[in-house]
Amino acid sequence: MIRFANFLVFIVFALCTSPLMHAQSCSYEMAMEKQGLLEITKSVPGVNVQLKYATQDNFMKRDVYGCLQHGYLQKEVVAMLKKAQKSLESMKPGYHLLVYDAARPLSIQWILWNTLTQYPPKIRKNYVADPREHSIHNYGSAIDLTVADEKGNALDMGTKFDFFGELAYPSKEQELLAKNKLSKKAYENRQILRNAMKSAGFMPIEYEWWHFNAFSRAEAKRRYQVVQ
Ligand SMILES: [Zn+2]
Repeated sequence: MIRFANFLVFIVFALCTSPLMHAQSCSYEMAMEKQGLLEITKSVPGVNVQLKYATQDNFMKRDVYGCLQHGYLQKEVVAMLKKAQKSLESMKPGYHLLVYDAARPLSIQWILWNTLTQYPPKIRKNYVADPREHSIHNYGSAIDLTVADEKGNALDMGTKFDFFGELAYPSKEQELLAKNKLSKKAYENRQILRNAMKSAGFMPIEYEWWHFNAFSRAEAKRRYQVVQ
């Protein structure tokens, strides 16, 4: 009898910790689906997703997404991403958009904000939005991504994702190129990404080559609820 009880405990434990159960019961993902957001790979053929905050390969060196394993975006933003992937394929057949981050729960925005304490809030805002003001990621209307070739390898963009410094600034590219700090190849690769995204209506920002907004913060706020 005791053995059977132990067996039952084992089965329940195994089920609760299995990736399948995790995916089905992830409160972040369930909340986003309830708010009408769509999972990217199910909706946009050709786009790959590797959420960096769901790994240790990020500026915090730890997984802060836990059960959040899939990239979600608002329906209208997914439609734009579909256009961007088509535009990329027309320029570079076989290439894929590779998503590093999409909708980001507000509770995780706080973790990002509180980790970057080496920067005073005024400078920190250039890299991570103040959670009190919300990030456009919190509305499922911003996306971090790069381009991968036919083999799935990310192109050289001059810096890694979440590199906090001028070398990642789109606004400084001409200057960095002239000073040979940014290679011509990396510059061209950024143009490939930016052209694909802009042709679909996404807006680049000043400080991060990987970040694009579908809407301004005010517009995202008007249209959608924050993802908690
Ligand atoms: Zn971003």
